Amino acid sequence: MSYRVVIFDLFDTLADFVRERLPLIHINGEAIRSTSAVIYPIFAARHGHISLETFYQAFRKSFDEAARLREVEEREVSARERFHLFFQMLQVPLTPDSESFLASLLDVHMACIADAVHAPPEHRELLEWLRPRYRLALISNFDHGPTARKVLDRAGITSSFELILISEEIGQRKPHAAIFEVACQALRITPAEAIFIGDSPSIDIAGAKGVGMGAIWLDRKGDRLDEAIPPPDHIVKRLEEIKGIL
Ligand SMILES: [Mg+2]
Repeated sequence: MSYRVVIFDLFDTLADFVRERLPLIHINGEAIRSTSAVIYPIFAARHGHISLETFYQAFRKSFDEAARLREVEEREVSARERFHLFFQMLQVPLTPDSESFLASLLDVHMACIADAVHAPPEHRELLEWLRPRYRLALISNFDHGPTARKVLDRAGITSSFELILISEEIGQRKPHAAIFEVACQALRITPAEAIFIGDSPSIDIAGAKGVGMGAIWLDRKGDRLDEAIPPPDHIVKRLEEIKGIL
């Protein structure tokens, strides 16, 4: 099969989230990497009666609740919506003033997340190699569009892509067919004309194969494939190996 378009996943495919780069905070005697280290002091300046422990517990719980909603409602839950859940759990009333406070906390949280992302320069070189050969696009599941776009800009790869879809901006996330269909429509191609490359079997491979796209699984850790998921067309251990396939 010859493909016309190569579509990439972003996180853990083109760029890595490095948890060790998050600031360290001690909660209940335990050292934890979390953006709470930077957002709690800002929060506590206003709501000093809420302890770090209570804050962090709600922070984690809102994360889990957002993940649950994504699963059951098959849609993206934005970081803003997650922070709303977080404030509700802390019983902070949502007034126009606290809304803008929430937005400023979210900005600090996201700046911290963006700083923890590492994009290997070899990936930019790979995209440069691919560009004269294929049309390139990207579909990312991420709860904050501007941050995903900032990661791409910092990696110097934004202009490599003809199309960039971030789930938060669409409201749908992989593996749902809708986000792949939006991409095909925008690119004016049929799914069979594209091949998708991503690290997650249940998100990237199931999603791409589900709409009839080709799929390459980036399996860095030598994981086992779940039999319920349609097998990818190719498996690579390093992203650069796709040069030998495409
Ligand atoms: Mg990924």
